[in-house]
Amino acid sequence: MLKISTYEDLTIYKMGRSIGKFVPYFVHAFLLEDTLIDTGTGFAGVEFLSALKEKKINRIINTHYHEDHTGNNHLIQQTHSARIFAHRDSMPYIENPRSVALRLYQKWIWGYPEGSRAETIGDSMDIGSHSFRVIPCGGHSAGHICLYDPHKKWLFTGDMFCGVRNIYLRRDEDFNQMLSSLEDLSNLHIDTIFCSLKGVVTGGGNALSEKIKYMKNLRNKILSLHREGMPAGKIRNKLLGREDLMFCVTGGHFSKQFLINNVLASPYNNDTVE
Ligand SMILES: [Zn+2]
Repeated sequence: MLKISTYEDLTIYKMGRSIGKFVPYFVHAFLLEDTLIDTGTGFAGVEFLSALKEKKINRIINTHYHEDHTGNNHLIQQTHSARIFAHRDSMPYIENPRSVALRLYQKWIWGYPEGSRAETIGDSMDIGSHSFRVIPCGGHSAGHICLYDPHKKWLFTGDMFCGVRNIYLRRDEDFNQMLSSLEDLSNLHIDTIFCSLKGVVTGGGNALSEKIKYMKNLRNKILSLHREGMPAGKIRNKLLGREDLMFCVTGGHFSKQFLINNVLASPYNNDTVE
């Protein structure tokens, strides 16, 4: 399944695996001038390649190596002779995706990408009239970058934003690291966020501030209940509810309990009640 839309000079490709008429999950890729930012899922590869047939793709930038962001790297590199740029810590996985053991749900929804050749991205990248700063961001995965255009006040966030109120944490994510990265990003002047999950988020600066506020409040509530002696399982039930379908479908990869445990185990819990 592939849906195409535009926003100013940007073309947006929203794609996911179709199972009949059902698409369990979507991801977005963005085309600016001759450069693709992420390449979506391989399950939409044929449609995506056909949509790009008349375009000239010289470059791909991967925000990070996850399989739903690099799924068509190989295909597009082959057909367009595109160069691929990513953070150096993402490159081993982009070149050898099977060095990451995907869970069953990931194989089912996204599939393994084929390996592609990548180069280390620098501190900045010019794309047509846009000049982007490349900002490394920790907390979601190794080698994750965001791209910021200070003139347009655009921020491409990969998987760093993904909505304001997240009640799960991935097993390989770190709550406080993510919060710290988001706080750094919120010092930028941002009008529009381009999110891999949500697509175009207008009022992006406000949305980012809301997310930070939500995460800080959640952390404070977790720590406060913990200090009162409440067990971690009860804190989860009180603040986030019991584990649900997300936990079952992802085999526990996305978990409310892991979010609570991750916050409680972190040495960086020392600031701010808001
Ligand atoms: Zn990701």
